[in-house]
Amino acid sequence: MRTPLVAGNWKMNMTVEAARSLVYAMSASLRDIRGVEMVLCPPFTALLAVQALLEGSDIGLGAQNMHWQEKGAFTGEVSPSMVRELCRYVILGHSERRSLFGETDETANRRARAAEKADLTPIFCVGETLQEYESGRTSEVVGRQIRLGLAGLQPASAPRIVVAYEPVWAIGTGRASSAKAANDVVGQVIRPALGGLFGMEVAQAIRVLYGGSVTSANAGEYFACKEIDGALVGGASLKPDEFVAITRHAAGTQSASG
Ligand code: PEP
Repeated sequence: MRTPLVAGNWKMNMTVEAARSLVYAMSASLRDIRGVEMVLCPPFTALLAVQALLEGSDIGLGAQNMHWQEKGAFTGEVSPSMVRELCRYVILGHSERRSLFGETDETANRRARAAEKADLTPIFCVGETLQEYESGRTSEVVGRQIRLGLAGLQPASAPRIVVAYEPVWAIGTGRASSAKAANDVVGQVIRPALGGLFGMEVAQAIRVLYGGSVTSANAGEYFACKEIDGALVGGASLKPDEFVAITRHAAGTQSASG
């Protein structure tokens, strides 16, 4: 049994004050939810404030990126141990990093290895672009992103890895993948690729999330899928009621009225 995980990617949103308000608005409800690992990923500037508010709860904290080097002349970057001081999780290889900031399979892999060394849980994102999707290259692209991005990690530490399958065409567009299609990619491409790296037993233990326009209205469909173990949520994670409702779906405790 894999414990479901729901993570909120706040992206470049929320000043410190706004971040505090968002956490206030949802933490009491989130604290009542059982059986789901929950993670909030604010921007770097709000990590400390959010960490203070989450103290004593089971709600985890994650960064949205980090550099692979420990220290040095890397202006504007944040190191693994800086992240680890505050967080247990770190989002890596997000498609916005890949498409807007030059992230490659190789640099995502350096970050993933650095996360392992720093005892951080990576939420490692993969997914095909619209063009790749339309030209029938999803399996090739996603398989490659897993094989290259997670190469060299140790099978012993691999069960803690979290993978997020996020079709790029579904992120922030309102055009979510069908649950069946996402489940097929996870079951037929991602888990076998993880199996090739770490062995099938370890691959079965790794949580694979779906991400891309998840809302409280569609979340239940993904969580009902055998291969999907939760969600990486962008836009809807900024709306407290939505994020709580999505997380309740993951716990299987969402009321019919929502
Ligand atoms: C994301 O940024 O990882 C994401 C899935 O965004 P959204 O939920 O807004 O599509």
